[in-house]
Amino acid sequence: MSASVGAQKQARSVLVTGGNRGIGLAIAKAFLANGDKVAVTFRSASELPEGILGVQADVTDAASIDAAFTEVEAAHGPVEVLVANAGITKDTLLMRMSEDDFTSVVDTNLTGAFRVIKRASKGMIRMRKGRVVLISSVVGLYGSPGQINYAASKAGLVGIARSLTRELGSRGITANVVAPGFISTDMTAALPEETQKQYLSTIPAGRFASAEEVADVVRWISSDEAAYISGAVIPVDGGLGMGH
Ligand code: NDP
Repeated sequence: MSASVGAQKQARSVLVTGGNRGIGLAIAKAFLANGDKVAVTFRSASELPEGILGVQADVTDAASIDAAFTEVEAAHGPVEVLVANAGITKDTLLMRMSEDDFTSVVDTNLTGAFRVIKRASKGMIRMRKGRVVLISSVVGLYGSPGQINYAASKAGLVGIARSLTRELGSRGITANVVAPGFISTDMTAALPEETQKQYLSTIPAGRFASAEEVADVVRWISSDEAAYISGAVIPVDGGLGMGH
């Protein structure tokens, strides 16, 4: 039996970016149910379940991230688990994709993750422990027409997680990528019905997943049980991306 089984678990300070709705909110709820102290970032005012601390932040703005972390640290202590979840899409085919369509998606999804990880790493290095989870997508490694910007940003997260693992792995810090397939949220509801049907036909599981199914994996990869997993890409995609 593992030495940690039955030991008193300490509530950790958890921060989820873009945790006011969708997958981020499901992740925040999973950590709350786990007994952790949970904060989420939001951009516009949103109603959050009791027990979750909301802090305003835009991941494209380093100053607002710094202010949000300072608020979370004052309330819950240094962030020990960071989930970089905030993300956007601006889908269109290459020929129609403007430079702004490309750079704005990369700025939010990839540079935004860099900004929050950089801010969180200070406290993690000091504590000599930490969990970083980057929410990527099956599309990052599988590719998707009309999503060159989004796929590039999501593939880039793998490079961040693996480099972070090599830089900070010896300090008790892990960095992993969770790559969801199609999850029922506002993001997928916005896809045309025909596209949704087409995707469904290619998913071995024959269904989209719930946000909770992603949240459970994020909670587990951040647990003591997963302390020796770092730099991994964990698919939660019903088999869609097999062979990555
Ligand atoms: P939603 O569109 O439902 O939510 C996106 C979240 O990101 C919102 O909380 C939003 O905040 C936040 N956000 C967007 N831009 C910024 C910004 N500049 N600064 C701060 N927060 C921001 O998306 P999902 O829940 O579906 O997706 C969450 C993550 O999972 C994303 O990274 C997405 O790419 C990824 N993913 C989703 C899949 C799916 O099928 N849904 C599949 C694979 C990956 P606000 O409310 O203020 O807009």
